[in-house]
Amino acid sequence: MQKLRSVKGMNDILPEQMPAWRRLEETFRATVERHGYQEMRSPIVEPTALFVRSIGEATDIVEKEMYTFTDKGDHSLTLRPEGTASCVRAYLQHSAGERSPVTKWFYMGPMFRRERPAKGRYRQFYQAGVELYGDPGPYTDAEMIDMVVSMLRDLGVLDVEVLINSLGSEGSRERYREALLAYLLPLRDSLSAESQARLERSPLRVLDSKAPEDQEIAEGAPRILDFLDEADQTHFDGLRATLDALGTPYRVEPRLVRGLDYYTRTLFEVQGRGSALGAQNALLGGGRYDAMVGELGGPSTPAIGFAMGLERILMVLPEAEAPAPIDAFVIATRPELRLEASVLARDLRREGLRIDGDLRGGSLKSQLRRADKVGARLALLLGPRELEEGLVQLKDLRDKAQQDVPRAELAALILRMLER
Ligand code: AMP
Repeated sequence: MQKLRSVKGMNDILPEQMPAWRRLEETFRATVERHGYQEMRSPIVEPTALFVRSIGEATDIVEKEMYTFTDKGDHSLTLRPEGTASCVRAYLQHSAGERSPVTKWFYMGPMFRRERPAKGRYRQFYQAGVELYGDPGPYTDAEMIDMVVSMLRDLGVLDVEVLINSLGSEGSRERYREALLAYLLPLRDSLSAESQARLERSPLRVLDSKAPEDQEIAEGAPRILDFLDEADQTHFDGLRATLDALGTPYRVEPRLVRGLDYYTRTLFEVQGRGSALGAQNALLGGGRYDAMVGELGGPSTPAIGFAMGLERILMVLPEAEAPAPIDAFVIATRPELRLEASVLARDLRREGLRIDGDLRGGSLKSQLRRADKVGARLALLLGPRELEEGLVQLKDLRDKAQQDVPRAELAALILRMLER
């Protein structure tokens, strides 16, 4: 029979990989909680219309990457390709804005995009992100960028570059769109087939294209920063001044547009510079989306957020510590004492200790080998004599020292030996 394998581009994460994942998730959580964000979780499946309306019809994601299906009730559903749209939907559905003028949420979980799998690019991948509603910025924009930089620093990810840009508000972007189209239309035949196909619908995407012919043309294109109106310009200047005051390094990149249609004003991306990443060097990206809450039927509410790809960060993360070892391994020296060994293990686990044992039984030698294998620091031997005298024989597997310990004193002694 043919072996069953995971879906292409979707990965198992095995126990030996988990310490790094947990360190990353815990650092993210600690960082954002220090900044006042609260965790929320939304369903992995949403109505398809949510993503079409928020991400935009002419985006790669909506055009060709969504896992969309019709359920038995004839509803079109989609596995979420990102987290922002779901957060906005939940924010509106639960009237979060009525309870507090500023809402700060964070989330973590798997996202799904049917992209071409490559190193650092998967079809199921994990994102951790934040969304902040009700503050028009720019101070909060700068603080968010500073927050991600300090998180990466805490993680030991130092070789990064922060890119920022402003896409302006609707008026500025419309004027820019026209100027960009006027520049691109005469060059249409030289663009990649993909860019030609969506030129009128989303000319900005040419700037983001990876095709060499598009990149060359993009070099000479007008710059969005020259089209900002006064309010947009003041906003962008405020962002830069705050980043300067915070000492957060950044580079202004006027061609940064990113793949989602909903951005307004502040846009940022953190790129890793090490060779480990290859072409997929965007560690995280975010920006302001001041129009989306209104477009999805809510009151006009400014908003900003970012999402980082956990797999990408893991590719540049310094080596994580080994998994937490087992504190003690319980060994019954006779098969008929397995039940008592189980009781001992249960009692010690109740004291907060990490206890393992080999309930298959086996010789003393094989059980000691197993104790070594799981990384236990101590072995607790239980035989007829120990049982009768209310003792356990405690063996330090590092220096092999052995001592009898009364059951009542065992947990406290182990905790002392482990310096906990
Ligand atoms: P986006 O939601 O497209 O703004 O992407 C935000 C971040 O998610 C990126 O900077 C990547 O780190 C990560 N990401 C996006 N797509 C993928 C993918 N297909 N595989 C792995 N990570 C991804």
